[in-house]
Amino acid sequence: MNIPSCPSCGQQLKSRPYSWVCSNCGLQINNIISGKVISPAIIQQLCTNKRTPVMSGFISKARKPFSAALVIRDNRIVFEFPNNDSSSRSDDAAMGGAVVRV
Ligand SMILES: [Zn+2]
Repeated sequence: MNIPSCPSCGQQLKSRPYSWVCSNCGLQINNIISGKVISPAIIQQLCTNKRTPVMSGFISKARKPFSAALVIRDNRIVFEFPNNDSSSRSDDAAMGGAVVRV
């Protein structure tokens, strides 16, 4: 696979055992997010488009499966949920940050 470029600053990401990281701006993309393996194709998509389509297969801390898109925002990965009816959702975002509601 091609080395993905950082979606924030364009630098080539470095491969770590469990993540891709940007040594320039500190962006980190884990290979597993909320129980879902983030495939190289998804990483590429995320780096190119700064977002992915809505994907299923995530598991919340409460062990409930859910679907969400991954979006790069403020140099971190956040979940973007497909519906507004997720207002009662309290799952943490992919990197332990804010949950973005659409
Ligand atoms: Zn960067």
